[in-house]
Amino acid sequence: MRALYIGRFQPYHLGHQAVIEKIAEEVEEIVIVIGSAQDSHTPENPFTGGERMEMIYASLRECSLCHRCYVAPLQDVQRNSVWVSHLRSMVPRFDVAYSNNPLVVQLISEAGIAVRKPPMYQREVYSGTAIRRLMREGGDWERLVPRAVAEIIREMGGVERLVSVSKSDMP
Ligand code: ATP
Ligand code: MG
Repeated sequence: MRALYIGRFQPYHLGHQAVIEKIAEEVEEIVIVIGSAQDSHTPENPFTGGERMEMIYASLRECSLCHRCYVAPLQDVQRNSVWVSHLRSMVPRFDVAYSNNPLVVQLISEAGIAVRKPPMYQREVYSGTAIRRLMREGGDWERLVPRAVAEIIREMGGVERLVSVSKSDMP
């Protein structure tokens, strides 16, 4: 059995990692889809599709799940009614989707695909929004992401980028 797990992964954090480890207990293979792959350099989507792919592969290597996962980037289409066809045309085939995102659950269920809701892992702490806030405010974000992700973000000047693209040119 092959599962789908989709997110924007801005950045990939320990909540995502916990979900993937849980899914890996239930199915043989996982297709991890990087949504809004075209977006980068904005306060909500600071990292490119490629940078997010690096983060995910580096983390999977650390927990030895690499050989059971595909990682596929997916651009947005501005039409939710055709999104599932778009998704299926771009990623490896899958039998079941794991998601708690209400829109993703709705669209995938309407297409007749089974959806499972993974448990939430300390959602207030392990959240992309909370992590980006900590990054902007100089807080301790590194403990909320896999070690390999912290290293990649440090290396590429990710925090400086996020701070920079969050500024305004208004006084
Ligand atoms: P953002 O705040 O930027 O939306 P996020 O933490 O929700 O970031 P996404 O990439 O949007 O991260 O999430 C992908 C999927 O992972 C979604 O289905 C989301 O519900 C789920 N998810 C995120 N954090 C957790 C967590 N701590 N435990 C379980 N699932 C999570
Ligand atoms: Mg989210």
